[in-house]
Amino acid sequence: MADTPTPLEVRNIKKRFGDTEVLKGLSLEAQKGDVITLIGASGSGKSTFLRCMNLLEQPDEGELFVHGEQIRFKTTKHGREPADWKQVVQMRAKLSMVFQSFNLWAHMTLLENIIEAPIHVLGKPKKEAIEHARALLERVGLSARADAYPAQMSGGQQQRGAIARALAMDPEVMLFDEPTSALDPELVGDVLKVMHGLAEEGRTMVVVTHEMSFARDVSSKVIYLHQGLVEEAGAPADVLGNPQSPRLKQFLAPKY
Ligand code: ADP
Ligand code: MG
Repeated sequence: MADTPTPLEVRNIKKRFGDTEVLKGLSLEAQKGDVITLIGASGSGKSTFLRCMNLLEQPDEGELFVHGEQIRFKTTKHGREPADWKQVVQMRAKLSMVFQSFNLWAHMTLLENIIEAPIHVLGKPKKEAIEHARALLERVGLSARADAYPAQMSGGQQQRGAIARALAMDPEVMLFDEPTSALDPELVGDVLKVMHGLAEEGRTMVVVTHEMSFARDVSSKVIYLHQGLVEEAGAPADVLGNPQSPRLKQFLAPKY
């Protein structure tokens, strides 16, 4: 579909913290339905790259396009920042992020967590937001937990709740930062199953993960980062099945 705007494109993103350049020129293009997985050692810049995509971190250089619209920046004495925060708010509504640490609001029930942004950011009528939330809870297997508080839920339930909350904004792109890394092993499968389902229904996703089977089975493209640069990228069968870079070979080798 030539007239469908590209959901997310970043070009040549650079980011430094103090004297350290942690992103040295990273680009990524997610077309509709793409599932792009980012892999790499701890400290390689995966989270920073993801956070630059929705401007939780401000990239020092590079361009960002969401749904074909370029984000405008200005340079101040503090460095580069968005020229128009209203534009950032609109663009963030199109990019939902799911974090490693679940991040549900502790003082709200699960249902309240899910309806908050649709009502207050999108201006949805409460009744409609609740109906949508109940459908999403059903889909992630949490219908029975609508009135529970996060502290009363397992990590896996909280993470599936966080995914339902992200979905409630009907985002154009979902960003996941190691969504299963903080979970007990027996809870990982339920979360991955939900993510599989999202990929199958054609959701556009960028996923930082250490779950190589997810990367292999679900993604359309795998990007291996090393020290803030793309070391290798391509189809999962190539990058994971036939890695070229010695570093990637070592990264993928069984640890014990
Ligand atoms: P990854 O997610 O791949 O483990 P990160 O993006 O979290 O990597 O970190 C990349 C590098 O940037 C690391 O060396 C980390 O210490 C550094 N870094 C990340 N965030 C900050 C920050 N807010 N201030 C200073 N250094 C940071
Ligand atoms: Mg990280």
